[in-house]
Parts: sequence; C-alpha cells; structure tokens
Amino acid sequence: MPMYDLMIKGGNVVVPGVGVQKADIGVRAERIAAIAENLLKKDAKKAIDATGKYVFPGAVDSHFHVGIYRPFSEDATSESTSAASGGVTTILTYFRPGRNYLNKTGPYRELFPELISLSERFYLTDYSYHLSMNSEDHVREIEWLVRECGVSTFKYYMFYKLLNLSGSSPDGMNYLMTDTPVDLGFLYKYMKEVSRVHAIFKDYGRISLSIHCEEPEIIRVTSAEVKANPSGNPLKDYSDARPPWEEELAINEVAVMANHTGCPVNLLHLSSERAVEAGIDVSRRYARQKFLLEGTLHHLGLSYDMKLGALAKVNPPIRSREDMECLWKRVLDGTIRTVVSDHACVTKEIKKGDLWTSLPGFGGTSLMFPILVTEGYHKRGLPLHRIAELSSSNPAQWHNLYPKKGAMMVGSDADLAIVDIEKEKRVTLDILHTAQDFSPEEGMKLKGWPEYTILRGSVIFDKGKVVGQPGYGRFIKRPVKLHYEGV
Ligand SMILES: [Zn+2]
Repeated sequence: MPMYDLMIKGGNVVVPGVGVQKADIGVRAERIAAIAENLLKKDAKKAIDATGKYVFPGAVDSHFHVGIYRPFSEDATSESTSAASGGVTTILTYFRPGRNYLNKTGPYRELFPELISLSERFYLTDYSYHLSMNSEDHVREIEWLVRECGVSTFKYYMFYKLLNLSGSSPDGMNYLMTDTPVDLGFLYKYMKEVSRVHAIFKDYGRISLSIHCEEPEIIRVTSAEVKANPSGNPLKDYSDARPPWEEELAINEVAVMANHTGCPVNLLHLSSERAVEAGIDVSRRYARQKFLLEGTLHHLGLSYDMKLGALAKVNPPIRSREDMECLWKRVLDGTIRTVVSDHACVTKEIKKGDLWTSLPGFGGTSLMFPILVTEGYHKRGLPLHRIAELSSSNPAQWHNLYPKKGAMMVGSDADLAIVDIEKEKRVTLDILHTAQDFSPEEGMKLKGWPEYTILRGSVIFDKGKVVGQPGYGRFIKRPVKLHYEGV
C-alpha cells in the first residue's frame, strides 16, 4: 500500500513566516503528512511534478459575497468554481438578513439552517460565514452562533443606519427588513455583546466584528456636491462623492467605540491613504485593542485614472494612483495584514443603471495570485512568503481557521495552490470561470497563474480546467480549536 494518497514533487514550497524551501509534500487522509527532501514517488498513489513552480498554502479568501445578487446555491457553485481556479481553497463569505441574499429576515435559529442547506451541495471549496446582525434579537443569538453553529465573525456596515429607515433607501423600501434603528447606538450594543462573547471564547480564538467604515451622513452631502459638478471621469466622481476623509472619520468613530467596549474589529477594505493611516493611528492610540487592517485586490490593482468605466463602481470606491501606491507601501511594511477579493458576482444586466443608481461591487477572487504576484512580487519586491501570509495564514489566524487552514505544516489540511510565477496571460473572461460577464481587469497582462489547486488532498483545478465537484466543499466551524480536535 502506498504511504501517501498524493505527492507534490520538486516544487518550491512557500512557507508563511519563513520563506521558500525546495521540498516534496506527501498527503494522506486529506492532510499534509510529510514535508521533506526527496520523498519517493513510488510511495504515492499519485504524484504531481511541481518542478520550477511555487507551492503556496491554498488562499483563504476572507471577504466574499456568495448569493448577494444571484440565486444563492447557483452563486455558491459558480463563484466557488471561480475561486478554485484562482488557488482559493476556503471562502469566508458574508451574509445578512434583508434584501438581496435570501430576501427575507427572521431569527438566525431559522435562517442559519436554511443557509447551510442552500450551501451543502453546492460549494467546490471549503467555506464558512460571517453574519450580520440587524436587530437586538439577532445580537442575542451571537453566543449560540459561536457555540453551536461555528460562526465566530460578525459584520456591521455603517451605511445601514440610513438604509433601514423606511423611505430612505433608493426605492423607498425597508432594505434590512428590521424595525431597529441600526445606528451607532445599535453598534454600541452589538460591540458590547461581541466583546462579552469574545471573553468567553478567547482561549479558542478571536470573536470579532468586521466593519465597513464609511459615513453615510457625509456621503449624502458630498454626493450631491459631485452630481452638481461632475468631472466626466465616472470613477473619479464616485471617489469624490465618497471622499477618503469620510472613511477616516468612520474609522475613528468605530475605533473609539471598539476601545470603549473591548470589541476586536476588522477594518474592512481600506481604500485610501487617509483610511489606512487612520487604521494605523487608532491601532497606536488604542494599543491594547485588536484591529485588523484589510486590503482588497481591486484597491491594490486598480485606480481611477485607468478609465475603467462605471462597471468598476464599488464601495468604498476605486481611488487615485497615489492612494493605491500608499496601500502597497502599507502591504509591504506589514501594516495591511490580509488581502481579499470582496467578490460579489454581478452581471451587467443585474448591475444596470447609471453611475449613481447601479449596484456596487464585482468579482475578482480568481485573480488573488496573479495580482499579488504581478503587482506585489514582480513590480514591488513583495517576497513570496509574504504573499502566503497575506492570502492565507493571516486571514486563517484572524478568522479562527488556523492551523487547520493557512499553515504549511504536518497535520494541516492539504490545501495547496501550485503557481507558475513567471507565466504571463492576458485576463479574459473564460479564464476567470465566473458567472460574471465582465471584469474591470479584462485585457490586463498578469503573471502568477495557478496551475493546480488542491483542496484536502483532492485536485480541484488542473491546468486550466476546474475538475472539483459541487458539494466537495465543506462548511468549516470556527474557531477550529473549539469545534475540532487535533488541529
Ligand atoms: Zn464586501
């Protein structure tokens, strides 16, 4: 009987926190069983030759929106397919009650089992959920969600405070389907509860709140100013309508409240110099408080001088080239600790409307390695093991998946992305394997494409072809240290 189910031979193994080493990897029973020099090919049922390639831990894309604009199960399959083609092996995706997603509300005791049943047979990658609480009843379910359901991360979007008032959302609907004013007073109670539950489970991981920091009361006024005097470049106008200083203001508000309540906070998708500097500033000011600074592929890969058009509308907006360079500086110096796609699959048809009325967001999960390798490693000297940290070990640690996920060590799940860091390809829709019918990156030449993606020892992407099956992906309960043994 061969000792290993799968062997990766001759590759350069990228170890987060360490560097690159030449080694072979032996996989047994879905986990890494050996990392060693000169493993014998005859000891494996199957071997992949990775000579000249780089073997990364599979990416953990920790900001995703499965089912936000399209039918849930369909989106779970099509967009986890896109993720698999990009070397992503675990998706952490946001869900909230209200419009979009399941288009309904109710207690999580009812919504969560429904979410799981819509997920179970549809993902190609492993997955887990970050959940939004829209009411005080939801907030009271947090401890149960951590203990019983394996959900350890939550979300608040500051824009909710205007959206949930009947008559104030664009079509006059109660968007969040809640009677609670989801304002800063609500956030205060929400943070207190996350903090309380964090104290209970802190030996197992960090229970945290992800916050979309933008200040809608400012945006209401700055948007009107820009609409009255547009520049002609839609993405610059959109950026000016949601100026970086309103992100800065929002981050400061959130930080004061996080410090007061002791709530760990993930500062989502920092888009501008002012936002990231505010993140650094509050981290210093409240040094005992935990803040995660998150960056996205699109804020690192795109700027509004690229003339991308209104389809690249996203919140927070695509910013100036100077902002983009500042984000890279903060990736390189280790301040921004996770890089995510914020993938929200949308078609031109669904997006519809003009710059001001169309839906925000787009997908990009399959570009995780091409953007980090091209823009980071090749253009700016970002070491490859740092790419493994930004895309895998850091998100796995913050979001309580480590060391089951995000680690290149014996006993961890055999989740791997074998990447050719020199191969250059032009971005076309077919190589993104998504249901989205456009990409802001379409036509760009990028290097660093995955050749194979391996999830728990099974090849799910094989040289341009997605070979994984819907339903192979498993829901991962977090913190893994609470819910699983032997990790
Ligand atoms: Zn998002």
